[in-house]
Amino acid sequence: MARLPHTVEFAAMTIAKPLLMIPGPIEVSPAVTQAFSVPPPSHLAPSVIEAFGASLELMRKLWMAPPESQPFVLAGGGTAAMEMAVANLIEPEERVLVVNTGYFSSRLAEMLRRQGALVVEVEAPVGEGPSAQEIEAALVGLAELGPIKGLFATHVDTSTGVCLDPEPLARLARRYGALSVFDGVCATAAEEFRMEEWDADLYLTASQKAIGLPPGLALMVVSERALAARESRRATAPPMVLDWQQWLPIMGAYEERRPSYFSTPATNLILALPVSLREILADGPEARCDLHRSVATALRRAWQELGLEPVPRRAELVSNALSALRFPAGVDGSLVGRIAAEGVIVAGGLHPEIRGEYFRVGHMGYCLTQPAMIRRTVEAVAKALAAGGRPIDVDGAVEALGEFGDAAA
Ligand SMILES: *Cc1c(COP(=O)(O)O)cnc(C)c1O
Repeated sequence: MARLPHTVEFAAMTIAKPLLMIPGPIEVSPAVTQAFSVPPPSHLAPSVIEAFGASLELMRKLWMAPPESQPFVLAGGGTAAMEMAVANLIEPEERVLVVNTGYFSSRLAEMLRRQGALVVEVEAPVGEGPSAQEIEAALVGLAELGPIKGLFATHVDTSTGVCLDPEPLARLARRYGALSVFDGVCATAAEEFRMEEWDADLYLTASQKAIGLPPGLALMVVSERALAARESRRATAPPMVLDWQQWLPIMGAYEERRPSYFSTPATNLILALPVSLREILADGPEARCDLHRSVATALRRAWQELGLEPVPRRAELVSNALSALRFPAGVDGSLVGRIAAEGVIVAGGLHPEIRGEYFRVGHMGYCLTQPAMIRRTVEAVAKALAAGGRPIDVDGAVEALGEFGDAAA
C-alpha cells in the first residue's frame, strides 16, 4: 500500500475536525452522512423514488401543512427557492409588501423588483422588527392603489438573528387578499411554523440549515391558493426550471412512487432527506422546536455570562436558530479567527450596516442533540475572548449552560 505523504499523515493524526457552528451549512447526523455517502444513484432508482416520495409526505408534517398543499424539492439553495416563489407568484405591475428585517429580506425585495413588481418595504432599524400595526398601515396604504398580490417576510433573518412571528403576518395577508410568502431558510425545523392553522401560502427553505443536510436542495410547500394563482397568470410563464407547472407532475409521480424526469434531482441528497426529516420528526415538529428553544435559552445565559449582547433589541425577537452577538468594547473581528483557532468555526457579520460589529453562531439541527458540541462552542468563544486579554470565567459560562453543558450527557 502506498504511504501517504508525510505531511498529510501528520495532519490526519493530529488535527481534529473543526466544529462547524455557522448558520448553515451545519454539522449533520451520522445517519445522514451515511445515507448520502454512496456512489451516485440514478434518479430512477427505486431507493431514490422511495426517498423522494417519503420526503414530500414528511415535509407536509414538518411544515404542519394541509393534505392538499404541494411540497417541492429541487436541486438548488435557499436563493433558488426564493426565486421560484417570486417567479411563479408575481407578474409585472403587481403590488407586493416586503417586511424587511435585514440582508435576506432586501434580497427578496430586489428579486421582486426584477420581476417587475411594485414593491413597498416596511423596514425597522437593525435588530428590530416592524410591528403588526406598522405592517397593517402599509397594507392599508397599498390597498388604496389596488389589489395586493403578496406579503413577503423573512421568518428568521440570518443577518440579524431577528425572528418574526409569522402568524399575525399570515392573518394580515389573508385580510387584505394577499398571498403570504415566508423565507424560512434559517427557521424551518427550528422555529414553529403552522402552515395549515395560520393559512399561510408558501414556506421555503434550503437543505443546509436546520433541515440538517449538506447544501444542494431547495425545499418549499405551497398552498392550493398559491398554486391557483400560478395557474391563472395573465402574462408570460416563469423560466422553465423554476416553473411549478413543469414540476407538479414530477412531484406527483414521486409521491405515487413512480419514476419520472424533468431535470435530474440531486440524488445523493434525496437519499439523505427522509433520514433527516424522520430524525427531526421523531417526537413531532413541536418537540424539535422546543429543543431549539431550550438550547438557545441556555446559550443566551452563557453569552450573558461572557458579556455578549444579542443584535436583536428585544427578547421576543431573538431567534432560536442562531445567535448574532455584538463584540464587547475593545474586541473586533479578529475574535472569529481566535474562535477558529480553538477548533470551532463561527461566522462574521453580514448586515451591511453593522458588519464589523458582531459575529454569528449557528445552533440548529444535529448539534443540539450533542451537549459536547454546545459545550465546546461556548468554551471556544470564552477562551478566544480570554486570549484577547479579557478577564473571562470560562467555567462560569459552561455552568450557565446547565444540562446542555454536560459533556458527559
Ligand atoms: C441562508 C439563507 C438564504 C440563502 O440560502 P442559500 O442556500 O445560500 O441560497 C436565504 N434566506 C435566509 C433567511 C437564509 O438564512
